[in-house]
Amino acid sequence: MESDIRLGKIFGIEIYISYSWFIIFALVTFALAFGFFPQQFPDHSVGSNVAIGLFSSALFFASLLFHEMSHSLVANRNNIPVKKITLFIFGGMSQMSEEPKDPRAEFKMALAGPASSLFLAGAFLVLFRALLASGITSEYFAAFFWLAQINLMLAIFNLAPGFPLDGGRVLRAAVWSATGDFERATNIAAKGGQVVAFLLIGFGILLFLGGNIGGIWLILIGWFLNQSAVGSFRQVMLQHTLADVSVHNIMSHEVTTVEPDTTLEDLVNHFFLRHRFGRFPVMGGDELMGIVTLHDIKDVPRQDWATVTAGEIIEPIDETMTIGENEPAIKALLKMAGEGAGHLLVINNGHLVGLVTKTDIMGLIRVRGELDL
Ligand SMILES: [Zn+2]
Repeated sequence: MESDIRLGKIFGIEIYISYSWFIIFALVTFALAFGFFPQQFPDHSVGSNVAIGLFSSALFFASLLFHEMSHSLVANRNNIPVKKITLFIFGGMSQMSEEPKDPRAEFKMALAGPASSLFLAGAFLVLFRALLASGITSEYFAAFFWLAQINLMLAIFNLAPGFPLDGGRVLRAAVWSATGDFERATNIAAKGGQVVAFLLIGFGILLFLGGNIGGIWLILIGWFLNQSAVGSFRQVMLQHTLADVSVHNIMSHEVTTVEPDTTLEDLVNHFFLRHRFGRFPVMGGDELMGIVTLHDIKDVPRQDWATVTAGEIIEPIDETMTIGENEPAIKALLKMAGEGAGHLLVINNGHLVGLVTKTDIMGLIRVRGELDL
């Protein structure tokens, strides 16, 4: 995701924020500065309420990060690698590069988030009480009371039993542990996610019809939750279907390659028009020199196509275009999806050994699905 901003690295985990995050930051600050705090301090200036609003939302987002960090640290300790956390419009997301291997690990990882929010709720409440008792007065104390409330709500909301919410993961771990059936557990937890999503949407609509603008927010969260329940379920099933398939099993060994002295005219007529790929590898003898793309050809004036050769417009190979022969097929599929590419060059020990296409992998998924393999 190039649209994310990197904040830094904590305990070996990269922290990113998405641009969408600024929208929610602004909304929360606005709601606090012009709604919540003016009700508590009607005689305060706008400036002072905006200042407490900013203070509170900054700590609220630190709380969200704390929640995600707790998931990630527990995950890493249980052999579920998490390298990256992204904060975005609906909160945070710890990106796992693989699914948990046993229900106990998933259970611990899932509970870590709500437990940390509950801990923060308690800590902010204790802080609020202690400050009140100290005899010092400041309007900033009200922020701590709000933070105690919002963290408690966060813990409760995340425990709703719908995948991919934390409570949905707890549910999946429980069903998985009881039945030993990972697919069935994921299916049930994802259905739970859709039920929670529809309840949120329904409740949001009722609120909105009752004149509460905040209902829109519930509708959006519900819509997003439904999308991710369906999406995560698909990805988990895909990973499952392709678990034992490597790139080697599915690649075609015959790759159409181009020689560096081929003219662009020949390239267009005999390669691009005939095979209809967007790019071809260029081979000098046994060595993979680079690729030529349709895009590069278009940059050369047409009258020069008879004289300019592939070697002159060659582009170096980079790792976004290749995949190792022994890598899992799902990795190739995710890479193509991420790059928007239709195929990848298969490399073994620096040599071009084949080509894997999205169509090949999707075809395999379809056949396996139909035979229920
Ligand atoms: Zn969580």
